[in-house]
Amino acid sequence: MPRPGFPKSLREFQSKFSTEEACQQYLAACRWPDGFVCPKCGNRRAYELGNLRRWECAGCRYQASLTAGTILHNTKTPLPVWFWAAYLMTTDKRGLSALLLQRQLGLSRYETAWMMLHKFRRAMINLKRERLRGDVEVDDTWVGGTQAGLRGSRQL
Ligand SMILES: [Zn+2]
Repeated sequence: MPRPGFPKSLREFQSKFSTEEACQQYLAACRWPDGFVCPKCGNRRAYELGNLRRWECAGCRYQASLTAGTILHNTKTPLPVWFWAAYLMTTDKRGLSALLLQRQLGLSRYETAWMMLHKFRRAMINLKRERLRGDVEVDDTWVGGTQAGLRGSRQL
């Protein structure tokens, strides 16, 4: 089974990821696209421990984390806030600032917004990426001090 579908509009995003539980369901569907399978005993039944962001195997009581190995692990920030930050970050082409993110999400601390952006940026860098070569298409970019709205290709 493929990854669960991602909302196509702001409205759909808003209704789909409005609660901690809904976000956890999405993470679980990404982690176990064919349904839960216990990594210890292979059992397919589990109980959701929502407050811990874990699922507990009904067979051996092994607790599998929904966020282990991701930037969301051990965060105290509610998952809907993370999801919104991801949405804002990936839809803002000019580069979202921590201050704007803090305002948009109504976060009390600037540091929280800064930390989230930092974690997202690190996660989005593909360490094995190759340098751009040949004709590179540049979409809606800024050149120089004023907004140029340049569209086209450039030889690098
Ligand atoms: Zn198990």
